[in-house]
Amino acid sequence: MKHLLSLSFFCILTFLNAQTLHKCVTHELIQQGEIYNPGFSQSIQAEFQKVKNKNSNRSHTIYRIPVVFHIVWNSTKPKENIPDSCIHRQIELLNHAFRATNVDRSNLRPIFGLEAKDAEIEFYLATKDPQGNSTTGITRKSTTKKFTTNLLTGAISIDMKSTAKGGQDPWDVTKYYNVWVVNMPIIFLGQEQVGILGFATPPSGLPNWPSEALEGVGADGAVIQYQFIGNNNPNFASLDSTFKIANSGKTLIHETGHYLGLRHIWADKGDPIFGSASCVDLNGNEDDDGIDDTPYCGSNSQATGCIDDKNTCEHESPDLPDMWENYMDYSDEKCQVIFTPDQTDFMQKVIEQKRLKLVSWDVQTNINDDDSEQIKIIYLAQSESIRINMSNESAVTIQIINHAGQSLFKQKVNSSQSEFEISCKNLPNGVYSIFVQSDQKSYFKKFVKL
Ligand SMILES: [Zn+2]
Repeated sequence: MKHLLSLSFFCILTFLNAQTLHKCVTHELIQQGEIYNPGFSQSIQAEFQKVKNKNSNRSHTIYRIPVVFHIVWNSTKPKENIPDSCIHRQIELLNHAFRATNVDRSNLRPIFGLEAKDAEIEFYLATKDPQGNSTTGITRKSTTKKFTTNLLTGAISIDMKSTAKGGQDPWDVTKYYNVWVVNMPIIFLGQEQVGILGFATPPSGLPNWPSEALEGVGADGAVIQYQFIGNNNPNFASLDSTFKIANSGKTLIHETGHYLGLRHIWADKGDPIFGSASCVDLNGNEDDDGIDDTPYCGSNSQATGCIDDKNTCEHESPDLPDMWENYMDYSDEKCQVIFTPDQTDFMQKVIEQKRLKLVSWDVQTNINDDDSEQIKIIYLAQSESIRINMSNESAVTIQIINHAGQSLFKQKVNSSQSEFEISCKNLPNGVYSIFVQSDQKSYFKKFVKL
């Protein structure tokens, strides 16, 4: 009942504020999943703690995530079929945010004593499809199906993730970050309106669940309202001024934070209808986003904006204002400029422990088979060793990681060696990823010891 009530809250919120918007419904999506699969929400929380509690040092590997965009557009509305240029710009924006190269990152107020930190995560459009064919990393499908949020029940449509339901099936969710670009309107007084900008699935960490376990949530990935992809989207200008807060292509940055395990910085506390703050959740408990260097706060900043004195919870020590500069707030996108250092560390851990397949499969065919590359990684099955050939490189760091994300070998090798060999005789049988990182670039290869 609690969960139905929560969904009703979302319904009423949307109803009352049909002229405004609900920037992200990831929290509501998890509640929707809970209705179909009791325990789903708890499993996400448990996985969060497990990942957070694991002590591991940053490997300073740059993880590169292949992305596929599925543009599912209504056949009567060609403008929903957004151009490639928006997708390409969105990839650039993601990379600026996750490598902390966005020029506005210095806007973070000094009171937090932090700086934006490089998450060492990059995104690129997939170059090979699941069958191994070359691809642009963009699929396009016209449909007659509408992906409308039901105002009576508050149910969020996830049909865009299914070909059988008029959408597009995902590519292997363990190997690609799937992003669906759609129109998912609400109907208010008979009019279609933009109501939701996006939502995403955090790692549930339960791959052994039956397939119906994801009913209510849908396949792993993010869904974005089509006008908000890129900051060069030709459809953005025709939107009502309400949407000027989301004018910088940061919706997918926020949703990708969820996809890599981050929660909203206010942990979805507070009054969802009127936006008033609360420092405890519905059960009266303090509820935090689980990240130590994001100040404790009790509401999002969608209604309040980016004002210096916004400080919803004052009991912490030292007492800091709400960090509306954070990508995981709902503040105006012009204010959102950083992931905190702890957030970046956490996302790295999520990749290493939950989404390692995502960053290790494509590169083995892409990079090391190219003769022009300066580093080659060769697995020699007979001698159970790995040979790394280097040319024109200064020092490189070599690391071997097992399927659970544990680092088993790490060594820095200097430029005087053009060839380096590592014995794998002592490794148990299994799947491993080897990462070789120079100043300029990272190289990956996956190998199987049988
Ligand atoms: Zn969100």
